[in-house]
Amino acid sequence: MNKYDVAVVGSGPGGAASAYILSASGMKVALIDRCVFPRNKLCGGLLSGRAKTAFESIFDEAWGPAIESEMCGARFFGSEGLLNSIDNSYPLYLTSRKTFDSYLLELASKKGPKVFHGVAVTSIDRNRVNFRDGTSFTSDFIIGADGATSRVRTCLFPDSFHKEDYALCFQSEIPRSELRETKPLPEIYFGFVRWGYAWVFPKGETLSIGIGGSLSKNRNMKNLFTRFFRHVTGRGPESIRGCYTPLGNYSKKPGIGNALLVGDAAGLVDPITGEGIAFALMSGKFAAQSILKAANSGIPHMAYDFYKPSYRSITRFFSPAKMLRHFLYPSYPQARLIRALPRATEIVESYLGLIAGRMNYYEFARIAFGKTVRDLFNRTGRQ
Ligand SMILES: Cc1cc2nc3c(=O)[nH]c(=O)nc-3n(C[C@H](O)[C@H](O)[C@H](O)COP(=O)(O)OP(=O)(O)OC[C@H]3O[C@@H](n4cnc5c(N)ncnc54)[C@H](O)[C@@H]3O)c2cc1C
Repeated sequence: MNKYDVAVVGSGPGGAASAYILSASGMKVALIDRCVFPRNKLCGGLLSGRAKTAFESIFDEAWGPAIESEMCGARFFGSEGLLNSIDNSYPLYLTSRKTFDSYLLELASKKGPKVFHGVAVTSIDRNRVNFRDGTSFTSDFIIGADGATSRVRTCLFPDSFHKEDYALCFQSEIPRSELRETKPLPEIYFGFVRWGYAWVFPKGETLSIGIGGSLSKNRNMKNLFTRFFRHVTGRGPESIRGCYTPLGNYSKKPGIGNALLVGDAAGLVDPITGEGIAFALMSGKFAAQSILKAANSGIPHMAYDFYKPSYRSITRFFSPAKMLRHFLYPSYPQARLIRALPRATEIVESYLGLIAGRMNYYEFARIAFGKTVRDLFNRTGRQ
């Protein structure tokens, strides 16, 4: 039992997707997590159509049990109040990570990986995976699916974690019944944090109230969160939990030879919206397919070379967003955006198309800039 074909470190969406595909293909897989499931993970729990499509391309099972509610719109706020509201757009899915990740683990477990939960990986030496309790085993391939502060990544690339490249998020969940207002749609708030946004996402029984922004631009995120929480609920939060998220700082080199990084471990989080679950699923799938190709060809050290092109198909999606965020997040364009939003329903609709996974950043930018230029001409014409 001390030798596996693949060690998947981390049993979140990225790890579960990899373990499902590899185990279904007959590989001997160890699926590891330092937590015992069901576990909760700090997350807004908003899932796009992209996440649904990725899920359906991996798991041969229904999407329904993974989600708690479905809503077709969103409301956008500034610190002064409602800016715009759309209630008949594309579907958005909401879930708690306890529900979502447990379901994915259940599906992966059916394919027969050996599950090691409650055991933390402390280091990787070539093909050997070492655990905190002093035990270890060897494996032909390793997948690092162990989240934003990935231990696998720092073993492969020792100096790869720089706090200032990350966003810091704080979130608290309260029972939906606590607020008089029913919160029928997900809410996004601008103006409460620099280079980021705040949110109220209604799930099955709870509301996720959170804030996330670039750590280098916000030195007092805890206070900003408390202020926002008070703005929504009228009281201070009972408990505050925060964690890092790699907002747009994806790895240029997500692996070496037979060791691959997926999801947050590779930094695959949308630079503007913070969406990460869809990309964890996609990269988990691509990593598994690359390992199968390398194993079947008898060239395990080539797994990373097989992974690179599919990984790039994800980062290509992020590239325009990395540029576009400079037109959205600095104070001046942000103030203009907040002023324009009540009249800019076309832009809000396309932003929802983007969040829902029906549109990419090129299409969004074409609509947003087109509208801005048209408005500019109309105004000049009137003067
Ligand atoms: C506050 C917040 C809100 C967010 N909201 C959204 C949202 O609404 N929608 C969305 O799409 N994305 C959201 N994201 C991003 C999303 O949570 C991540 O992109 C996603 O969870 C990445 O999945 P993953 O499988 O790569 O890693 P994770 O889900 O982080 O899973 C990593 C797993 O690895 C385990 N692990 C870590 N270290 C070790 C170790 N040393 N040994 C063994 N196991 C280990 C952890 O216990 C964990 O279970 C949010 C992130 C934050 C922080």
